[in-house]
Amino acid sequence: MSESKHEALQRIFGFNTFRPNQEEIVSAILDKRDVFAVMPTGGGKSLCYQLPAHLMDGLCVVVSPLISLMKDQVDAAKANGLEAEFLNSTLSAKDRIRVFQALEDDQLDLLYVSPERFAMPDFMIRLKQAKVSFFAIDEAHCISEWGHDFRPDYLSLANIVPHFPKAGIAAFTATATHKVSEDIITKLGLRNPHLTRASFDRPNLFYQVLPKEDLDLQLLEFLHEHKDQSGIIYRTTRKSVEATADFLQSQGISALAYHAGLTPVQRKKNQEQFNRDQVQVVVATIAFGMGIDKSNVRFVLHGDLPKNMEGYYQETGRAGRDGEPARCLLYFSRSDIVRIRYFIEQTDDLNERKIAENQLYQMVQFSESNVCRRKAILGYFGETYEKENCKTCDICVGDVERSDATVPAQKVMSAIYRSGQKFGAVHIADIVVGAKTAKIKQLGHDQLKTYGAGKDQDKKYWRRVIDDLLAQECIIQNAEQYSALELTPKGKQILLGKKTFEVIRQKAVKKKAAAGITSDYSPKLFDQLRAERQRLAQEEGIPPFVVFSDRTLREMALYFPDTAEQMAGISGVGAAKLAKYGDTFMTIIEMFKHMHPGEVEKRALLRIPVKVNKSKKPKISKTALETLKMAEQGLTMEAIAAVRDISEGTVSQHIEKLLEEGLGDGLDLDRLIDPEKRMLCEELFSRLSGASMRSIIEASGNKVSYADLRLVRAFMTKRETA
Ligand code: ADP
Ligand code: ZN
Repeated sequence: MSESKHEALQRIFGFNTFRPNQEEIVSAILDKRDVFAVMPTGGGKSLCYQLPAHLMDGLCVVVSPLISLMKDQVDAAKANGLEAEFLNSTLSAKDRIRVFQALEDDQLDLLYVSPERFAMPDFMIRLKQAKVSFFAIDEAHCISEWGHDFRPDYLSLANIVPHFPKAGIAAFTATATHKVSEDIITKLGLRNPHLTRASFDRPNLFYQVLPKEDLDLQLLEFLHEHKDQSGIIYRTTRKSVEATADFLQSQGISALAYHAGLTPVQRKKNQEQFNRDQVQVVVATIAFGMGIDKSNVRFVLHGDLPKNMEGYYQETGRAGRDGEPARCLLYFSRSDIVRIRYFIEQTDDLNERKIAENQLYQMVQFSESNVCRRKAILGYFGETYEKENCKTCDICVGDVERSDATVPAQKVMSAIYRSGQKFGAVHIADIVVGAKTAKIKQLGHDQLKTYGAGKDQDKKYWRRVIDDLLAQECIIQNAEQYSALELTPKGKQILLGKKTFEVIRQKAVKKKAAAGITSDYSPKLFDQLRAERQRLAQEEGIPPFVVFSDRTLREMALYFPDTAEQMAGISGVGAAKLAKYGDTFMTIIEMFKHMHPGEVEKRALLRIPVKVNKSKKPKISKTALETLKMAEQGLTMEAIAAVRDISEGTVSQHIEKLLEEGLGDGLDLDRLIDPEKRMLCEELFSRLSGASMRSIIEASGNKVSYADLRLVRAFMTKRETA
């Protein structure tokens, strides 16, 4: 009987349960159905195809437009023990040959390719000779001209169905209007696909809008309170990006700039440093967009008002992909409205202008209204949020002050009404404060009853009231009439005293306002684990989140697992990662427990949620069997590694796994490594019993390696259990 979905979920990915929609999608793929899935960023799309890719016979071809990400994606899959490779223009000739060989030898679970590569005739030919079980299309909206990210190369994917009629297709996207969705399905030629449209709610994101006062200082304050957390700060222009990045650097914050004015090399470098946790913050324009799959982005700050809700949602969506709490802060100032309005007015196309005006007001409304931010965002995507209180936005946790502003609203609307609904905001404000402008004299507006009715406040104040009224749709701007202000039915009711008018103002930042951010874990231990993750990632040349996600480290810092069994119970620790990193992290935890007995006591009653089936028999990978073949032929570990172009560490892992599974009975340890080294390892193990691998290596004066120790230990264990 082959492994079940749940067993594979636990063994490979180390997760206990599927996220919403994942299981249905996996089942549909296993049933050889086509799939079309719209899931928000962080919804867990990759697992949807990686899991069946592993369970099914044959290969899954993943088409992805993001060349810069492919290596990370492949590294992440490999870290979970999957057989994955990629093909794109960045690959050396030698690596290309190796990948094609693996393809020919039917060794792969996953092959990531760029759409350009897919379009190449010789690649098609090779692929046809391989055994393809299904295609996974990432960022599928790139095939649609209606989408915001059309890529002509994607059109060649229409060839999948005619050329590979037996293979299934699973298409994924995070952004799709219904029009784009239909277009994708038609263009790819999906056959009665299983359809999924996930909720766009991101429950782990905390949304907050704050008044923008001195932005640089506000950012600095935020960063001081969120030391060691990764985040993105969005700004509108290159100049402001540079200025903010410079300022933060001058304050000792580890920050880099990112915008379209930098060279591609520099951009790539900055993005990579961010990805690898080598820099804390990226200050960026929206050019820093697609292709950030870093899962531990803990905050996304908007220093300026975004142009529209769609953009705002996508940008904030880059936070918290690992499902852990993350914060989305928008610093809002009315001067931004003026700035955006100015740009809108430069557009000649009246239709475009209307759309832009409308988008701006949706943004302003979002920032200023007193409805739950989450409800507002989801409403924008046509989704109804059912809960009364989301508990994770500033409105719902009560970080705003409401006040009645019916009287000022009536003053403004009266001025609008009495002057004939023919004038713009500037003139109306002038009437209310009683300004002595030529225009007022000429039109006789100083005779109006409302003239000077608001002279106790300044013009700025009245502009704000006007914007409040616009945001709440009590008045509208008539784009065809030089932006003249007009009352809406809602506005008229307020003017007539039948309804009240309320404005909200954000309170100053409250310390620890973030509801939902629980932290019973030990931050001290978390920091140590993070440092180790960083070290390992650097050593292997992969991003830290590929080693373990923030969530995984946080669970470790909560449950203090110090046996392999406990470690396996931590979310995100699958069999491969347990074998590879388990010891290292357990050593740190053990040390920490030793040094901080109080912390242990505090958590004495905590239990790691049990993962069933964790210890079920893992499937032996094709590559491990390859190693076995060579070992049986009498090759040394070093030779096997050299011939197969893999590390000795990997070879030793293979052998460990094989022995655990009762294979490799005829293997002779003394043929795999030098007998003298073997004896040294055994002697070290017995002398330093219980010590971590690292300290054993240090004690040997680096005479033995991880691979040597693992290999010898595997044989010793086998002897003991025999
Ligand atoms: P997407 O591609 O949809 O943006 P990813 O595939 O990158 O999302 O997944 C986002 C994060 O969620 C990753 O860190 C992944 O490990 C995690 N994740 C995915 N599925 C699960 C699950 N069932 N349980 C826990 N975490 C999961
Ligand atoms: Zn809310």
